[in-house]
This record gives sequence, structure tokens and C-alpha cells, in this order.
Amino acid sequence: MSNKVAIITGGARGIGLGIAVCLARKDMRIVIADRDGAAARTAAEQFGGLGVACDVTDRAQVADLVQQTITRFGRIDVLVNNAGICPFVDVMEMDPSTFKKTLDVNLTGAFHCTQLVAREMLARSIQGRIVFITSLAVNVTSARQGDYAASKAGLHMLMKSFAIALGPHGITCNAVAPGMILTDLTRFHWEKPENAAFIKQRVPAGRIGTPEDIGQAVALLVSDEAGYINGVGLIVDGGHQAVCA
Ligand code: NDP
Repeated sequence: MSNKVAIITGGARGIGLGIAVCLARKDMRIVIADRDGAAARTAAEQFGGLGVACDVTDRAQVADLVQQTITRFGRIDVLVNNAGICPFVDVMEMDPSTFKKTLDVNLTGAFHCTQLVAREMLARSIQGRIVFITSLAVNVTSARQGDYAASKAGLHMLMKSFAIALGPHGITCNAVAPGMILTDLTRFHWEKPENAAFIKQRVPAGRIGTPEDIGQAVALLVSDEAGYINGVGLIVDGGHQAVCA
């Protein structure tokens, strides 16, 4: 088993769980952090890992996540900032509290996690890897994704700032921007027959993405071989964004 220890936020299900599966295949020791502690522990069990209740918007809970990981494994090599929400509310109807919550989870949560984990990596001279899960909404949006797109575009630039700050220490920061992936977040939309047909016609890969499609991309970016890849966003969408009409 590799020595490496990976924390995945929002890892109890969906894309986060797919990432955990792919990193466990690389023999990493897995820490699942999720709002629901029982779900985090259940997910972590399949990897012999650690499950921790952690709401990423609460800096004290993030500090506790770091502490529990160090107590159990003694180090942190990889952080995947995956926890995210997308309320899908028209930007003209949106309550300010909804807007604020999306930014708190998707953007400020990743700030807390990255800063506290990176401090731990620096203290132990670990050549760590940090990955931010953004979205195609970094570049394109819809009326129902004003909060979400703002948070993800901000996350992309936050990633770059951390890449510049941490690069001199051998720690890399990169983003993976998933296209359309079937999870609980999006199931209500993609399981409608007309939308399933849209995917077949519009995505060159001819299918919707899976959580493990994203996990494989994360595994590439956190590998030893990826040490000179820093501050970039990798679109993983089956070719969707390459299509102009
Ligand atoms: P899911 O809703 O399926 O899973 C998200 C997980 O994150 C849930 O376990 C959820 O817990 C957890 N979570 C939510 N808020 C917090 C919080 N404050 N602290 C800790 N954990 C939290 O989403 P996906 O797997 O689909 O999405 C994962 C990431 O991928 C998100 O950042 C999303 O924006 C991004 N993404 C997804 C795409 C898709 O097509 N699915 C496309 C592009 C990007 P709980 O169940 O308790 O809410």
C-alpha cells in the first residue's frame, strides 16, 4: 500500500465517491469528509479509510478534519475540494441567502480546506497535490446558475492563486472541470428522456459522464508524474465543449 493519504470533501457519494474509488485503486489511504458523518463513515469503510463529519463552510470543522487525519495517518498528501451544491434557481428570483450559501460551500469551503491542509503539508515538507472540482460553468452558464457559475469561476481563480503560492514548495494545485455527470445532483434532469437524447446527440462521447470518469482525471493530476502540471484546469466532458453548434 502506498503511503499517500488523500482527503476528499463531499466524498460520501457522487463524484467524490468516484474520486475515492480511483485514488484507492492507486493504493492511497482514503479520508472521506462529508456533512453527514454516518454517510462519510459508511463510504470510507469500503476502502478501510477514515470517515469524518465535516461541513466545509465551518472552519473549526475543517481544522478538526485535518487533526483527525494527522492523528490517524500522520500525513496528508492529497486534497480534493469536491464538496459543492447547485440549487438551480433563476438568478432574478434567487434569495440572497441562497446566493450566499452557494458561495460559502463551493468557494469559501475550498479556501478553508486548502489553506489548512496546505499549512499541514508545508509543516511536514510534503510535495502535495490539491485538486479543485470546478465545472463547465467556469466558462458558460444559464439563468438558473448565476450563483453556481460565480462560485465555480471564483474557485478556478482561487486555485491559480494557491498554485502560485504553493508551487515554490513543490505543492501543485489544479482544477478538473466536469461536464455532465450522472449523480444525485443532476439525476432529476438527465433522467428525463428528452435530455438523455440531447446527451447522445450533443456529447461526442455519446454518453453522459460517470463519477469515475472524473476520478480518473484526478488520479492523473495527483500522480508523481504530474509534478510540473500546476495552475491549470482540465475539462473532462467527453468533448462536449469542443462542439460549437
Ligand atoms: P452530489 O450532490 O451528488 O454530492 C455532493 C456531496 O457533497 C454530498 O455528499 C453532499 O452532502 C456533500 N456536501 C454538500 N455540501 C457540503 C458541505 N458544506 N460540506 C461537506 N460536504 C458537503 O454532487 P456531485 O457529486 O454531482 O458533485 C460533486 C462536485 O462536482 C460539486 O462540486 C459539483 O459542483 C461538481 N460538478 C458536478 C457536475 C455534475 O454533472 N454532477 C458537473 C460539474 C461539476 P449532503 O448529501 O449532506 O448534501
